[in-house]
Amino acid sequence: MLAIDLKGRVALVTGASGGLGRAIATTLAASGARVAAHYRNGDDEKDAAQVVDLIRKQGGEAEAFAADVADANAVAQLVEAVGGRFGALDVLVNNAGIDGPRQPVGADEPEAWKKVLAVDLLGPYYCARSVIPLMEKGKRGVIINITSVHEFIPWEGYSAYTSAKAGLSMLTKTLAQETADKGIRVVAVAPGAIQTPINASVWSHPDSLRDLDQKIAMGRLGQPEEVARVVAFLASDLASYITGTTLAVDGGMLIYPDFRQGG
Ligand code: NAD
Repeated sequence: MLAIDLKGRVALVTGASGGLGRAIATTLAASGARVAAHYRNGDDEKDAAQVVDLIRKQGGEAEAFAADVADANAVAQLVEAVGGRFGALDVLVNNAGIDGPRQPVGADEPEAWKKVLAVDLLGPYYCARSVIPLMEKGKRGVIINITSVHEFIPWEGYSAYTSAKAGLSMLTKTLAQETADKGIRVVAVAPGAIQTPINASVWSHPDSLRDLDQKIAMGRLGQPEEVARVVAFLASDLASYITGTTLAVDGGMLIYPDFRQGG
């Protein structure tokens, strides 16, 4: 039977204390990887500890590490600590992210805009540049950047988020070009609407949930595990010929279901 096998791999998942990160960390561990479960700070510590606990109870190996991904020095220390603890680093999942406040350009706060860019674009860049030397040493590596369907679809009021995710898509491609000859693959995963705390304000109200469901060809939100399984596949050798591209996991948001009728 063909199975996702990550035995012997060490994976760092950023934002593992959040909805998607938790599913990614536990799924990678269930596939055999040893997992560094990253979280931001004290507020998220309990959630990260729960993820580690869950993995250990399932017979896996995991440890939690804190850092602000928007801080280059903190990221360098994070990666050093993970390398020191596990002796290698084979998989990086740049998952930590924020969408920021809904603010049209002009009526916005430049500081809030910069914050989204710092977490969603600079964060993955800092993480990638810190892990590449370790991956080069191990002669293998996979970097998976969690973008969004908003690397393609504009979203009123969220120009920082859409710009950061589109930027992360281009970082994915450029980095893939730079590292292909070093045994490193770089791939983006673009989730659609996945039911996590980041969008709880939308799915917790029947009207906004109905509106969102209509934007999805399959007519429902995705669950974190549905993204996590794709991440595990991409991290594995089953995806050995995939690099420099984005895989959407969106229930058909990008096929514009609104165009089924009329037009
Ligand atoms: P979430 O809010 O549940 O989790 C976000 C995680 O990022 C948390 O662990 C948080 O601690 C971490 N984080 C935020 N700022 C940080 C910082 N400065 N330093 C370190 N960590 C930080 O959200 P989620 O839905 O799990 O989102 C995970 C990723 O998936 C994000 O990049 C998000 O943009 C992307 N995404 C989510 C959806 C969705 O529908 N949920 C859709 C598309 C893309």
